[in-house]
Amino acid sequence: MKYIFFVLTFIYLTNWQAVIALFKGAFFSKRKSLSYKNGWLFNLLKKKTGIRFKFKKAILKNYTAFSLILPPNTIVFSSRILKDFNKDELQWISLHEAGHRVYYHGIKYIPTSFIFVTSGMLILNYYNNPIVNFLTVAFSLTPIYQQIIRIFETQADQFAAKNMDNPEGMITANKKFGKTIKSRIYKSDILRTLFTPHLSYNQRIKLAKKEIESRKKKI
Ligand SMILES: [Zn+2]
Repeated sequence: MKYIFFVLTFIYLTNWQAVIALFKGAFFSKRKSLSYKNGWLFNLLKKKTGIRFKFKKAILKNYTAFSLILPPNTIVFSSRILKDFNKDELQWISLHEAGHRVYYHGIKYIPTSFIFVTSGMLILNYYNNPIVNFLTVAFSLTPIYQQIIRIFETQADQFAAKNMDNPEGMITANKKFGKTIKSRIYKSDILRTLFTPHLSYNQRIKLAKKEIESRKKKI
C-alpha cells in the first residue's frame, strides 16, 4: 500500500501543473480545435521543426495562462494565452512546446520518472521507520527530479529563443506572466526551484536578451 501512495504522491508532486491544467483546462472544460492549419503558426512551426502541429484551445473559467503539449504533436493553449499574447509572444510559447517535441522530452520523461519511482520504492523497502514514509520520500525525491527536468525546460526555452523571428516576444510574454501569476510556488524563487522544472521569468528574459545580443554581433 505504501508503494501505491508513494507513486501517486510522487507523480502528483512532479506533474502538478500538468495535472491541474489538464483537469481544469483540457478534460473538464470545453476544448476547441483551432483551425490554424496553413495559418501562420502552423507554417512557422513546420518551417522550424518539419513537424505538422495541431492546436487546441482550452477554455478556462479561472483564467489561467498556460500551454502544454500532448503527445504526439498537439499544442494546447489556454484561452487566456490566445487572448493576452501577441504574435511574437505566441511564437515563444509555441516554439517552447515544439522544442519539447523536437528533443523528444515526452519519451525521455519515462525512464527518468521510472528511475526515481524505483529508487523511492527501494528506499521505502529498505528503511522500516516512521520518518521514512511515502510522503517524506516523495517530498525529498521531487526536488532532485525537478533539477533534471530543468535541463529539458532550459533546452525548450533555448530552442524557442533561437528560432523566434523576434526574441523580444519572449521578454514581453514573461513580463506578462510575472505580472499575472497567482501561484505561490511560482512567486517564490525557492519553491519554484524545488517544486517546478521551469526557469524563472527573469531567467527566460535573460536568455532572450542573450539571443538578441548574439544576433546583433552576427550582423
Ligand atoms: Zn516546458
